[in-house]
Amino acid sequence: MPSAISLSSLIPAGLSVERFEVVDRVLFVTASARTPEAACPSCGRPSRRRHSRYVRKVSDLPSAGRSVRLLLITRRFRCDITSCRRKIFAERSGDEVVAQRARRTGRMECIVHHLGLALGGRPAACFAQRLMMPVSNDTLLRVVRRRARSPRETLNVVGIDDFAFRRNHRYGSIVCDLERRRIVKLLPDREIATVAGWLSDHPEITVVSRDRGGGYGEATARALPNAVQVADRWHLMENASAAFLDAVKKSMKSIRAAIGAAIVDPKLLTSAERLQYEGYLRREETNAIITGLAADGVPVKEIVRRTGRSRGLVRQIVRGERTDVFRSPARLARCVSALPRRAMGGRLPQRR
Ligand SMILES: [Zn+2]
Repeated sequence: MPSAISLSSLIPAGLSVERFEVVDRVLFVTASARTPEAACPSCGRPSRRRHSRYVRKVSDLPSAGRSVRLLLITRRFRCDITSCRRKIFAERSGDEVVAQRARRTGRMECIVHHLGLALGGRPAACFAQRLMMPVSNDTLLRVVRRRARSPRETLNVVGIDDFAFRRNHRYGSIVCDLERRRIVKLLPDREIATVAGWLSDHPEITVVSRDRGGGYGEATARALPNAVQVADRWHLMENASAAFLDAVKKSMKSIRAAIGAAIVDPKLLTSAERLQYEGYLRREETNAIITGLAADGVPVKEIVRRTGRSRGLVRQIVRGERTDVFRSPARLARCVSALPRRAMGGRLPQRR
């Protein structure tokens, strides 16, 4: 059953349309508040005594392919409460309709914020132009920054970790609110005193998630002795993953021999893998020379002199740490299962 839509239902709630006109593809809507009274922002008492009125111009969401400008008739009222220091005040529509001194309605501000978050300044400004919501790139960034500033909330569970201002050069510490998933503070360094100083200003923190190094642990113990310290999941997974890859890397030769994939068939490799395999063969030649010399009792210094290889490389080869076919760490884990299958013509080798 068809239902009638009033014009006022197309503009933000609480306002009613007085008139509208289209000028140069822009829809100008004159609107005013529906209530006969307004509350004084100082004392909160309602007043019906009007003083004057003025027009606020705010942008609203587009309508039928046209930009919309809201001409909001705003009334001024007198406050008759003798103890109130405010004598005249302007009515307010609420932040969800139009915030005080805002240039856009609340619902448009929300879309502008999301556009800024999704696309950034310039791309979002171009897209907003196409959506008939002209906003500048600076405005988009300003809205994103303003909304990122959260009201002060009580911290309960925080995570603390290193933060690279410039990798390998300058590090600070980052503190995140793990309940709200927000950055709370960037500290200028990783000193125990700095971190402890900041933590002691927040005695409400009950749980601190941190890496397994001692620095942040000591700072927490010093500033918040009653807080629970937990190892964060990322560091646990990172450490476990590094230990696993290290163990696999050291045992690659034995693993390949055990699963019957010591010989790689180059015909079954992709071009990229073939290049890596050729490199591996070249490395194996060097490995054979160096391990042969080491087996004959030639000292490392002498091997370096004879082969022209670096001391570090020679030590690595003597320790048996350079035997993998595919050198990239990401491929290393896959090598264990993928390489034998490819090399054995798609069939998994029998377990021995
Ligand atoms: Zn008042």
